[in-house]
Amino acid sequence: MATYDLAIRGGEVIDPATGTRGRLDVGIRDGRIAAVTPSIAPDDARESFDATGHLVTPGLIDYHVHVYHGATYWGIDPDPVAWRTGVTTWVDAGSAGATTWPAFRDWCVRPARSRILAFLNIATAGLASATHELASLDNLDVDLCIRTIEANRGHLIGVKVRMGSPDVNPHGLEPLHRALGAAQAVGLPVMVHLGAAPPAIEEIVARLRPGDSITHAFNGNTMRMVDDHGTIRPEVARAWDRGMIVDIGHGAGGFSFLTAEALLAQGRPPDIISTDLHQLAVNGPAFDLPTVMSKFLALGMDVEAVVARATAAPAKALGRDDLGTLRPGAIADVAVFALDHGDHAFYDVRGNRRDGTARLRNVATFVAGSRLPEMAPAPPALWMAPSELQRLVAAAGHVPAGYRWPFGA
Ligand SMILES: [Zn+2]
Repeated sequence: MATYDLAIRGGEVIDPATGTRGRLDVGIRDGRIAAVTPSIAPDDARESFDATGHLVTPGLIDYHVHVYHGATYWGIDPDPVAWRTGVTTWVDAGSAGATTWPAFRDWCVRPARSRILAFLNIATAGLASATHELASLDNLDVDLCIRTIEANRGHLIGVKVRMGSPDVNPHGLEPLHRALGAAQAVGLPVMVHLGAAPPAIEEIVARLRPGDSITHAFNGNTMRMVDDHGTIRPEVARAWDRGMIVDIGHGAGGFSFLTAEALLAQGRPPDIISTDLHQLAVNGPAFDLPTVMSKFLALGMDVEAVVARATAAPAKALGRDDLGTLRPGAIADVAVFALDHGDHAFYDVRGNRRDGTARLRNVATFVAGSRLPEMAPAPPALWMAPSELQRLVAAAGHVPAGYRWPFGA
């Protein structure tokens, strides 16, 4: 009888959590990683996948997305993206609040083939509308947020608050205080969205604890981490060195090559690379996690460093040692990538272009040992129209493999 249900053979394994790199076979049994070994005999696995010439990594964890589709402004259906990108775990960043969480759990999270964890929005309705979820403090119910998380441990992994000026106006830091109060009570982190000041980024980061994260961290807006000369703000450096997590959350407004280059030049790569994938980002220039990871390859980071920031690092932030690794015993989420060498163009949210020589292209995606089947792309929401930048990038053909423009001619 075969020892393994599936063997992924002949690929170059990169597993930053265990420091493993080399040409190895991965054996899977009962939905778990059973072995990572130089060779699995052909008759020792019921099924085989030939990964020769490809990279084999843990299934990716996208630490900031919006996948509450059908009921919120931003939400996309994640499965039509997962199978062609290697993402096996999505972390929804506050699409649901306490009153809209049960429908998200029952109608989106549970039916999905890929895994969904979520930050609960401190605003009870979450991101049902595009903006203004914090407009009335009546809707920032700390006690209800706490009770919802306590009743849904395992799904809910923290509290989300958007601290940009249009979101918090006129309440200043009060939404952050409430999010921190709820998170503290349940022993979980807060994720803070940065955008336009006020409040000042210094006032926000000074209040964050180790494990709390800032997202859209490399934005080019007034809440950016660097000053006008590109030097990291001292208060931001202090909070980061204290254990605050710095998350990319690319999105449609949250990623600037100029900020990224300034911070990388100061030896400050991000802790986590994520997409903030949503209705406005899934058609570029963010596109998907392999694309955002490839932007950091273009900026000079190496493959192992980039893979670590989409596997081991988010798993650690989630406190999950069974995800984001190929360690025997872990859940058998595995991604297979080609590294396409050639000329590749990438854009930030302002349309700044950088050229790179390599791009990650997903070849196969396995969730708990089962390969995700090909799915047609989901149509955009009725309220979505492509931006000028999206038209430009698509017309130039600078899109991921397998991506299809959904808006018609
Ligand atoms: Zn977001």
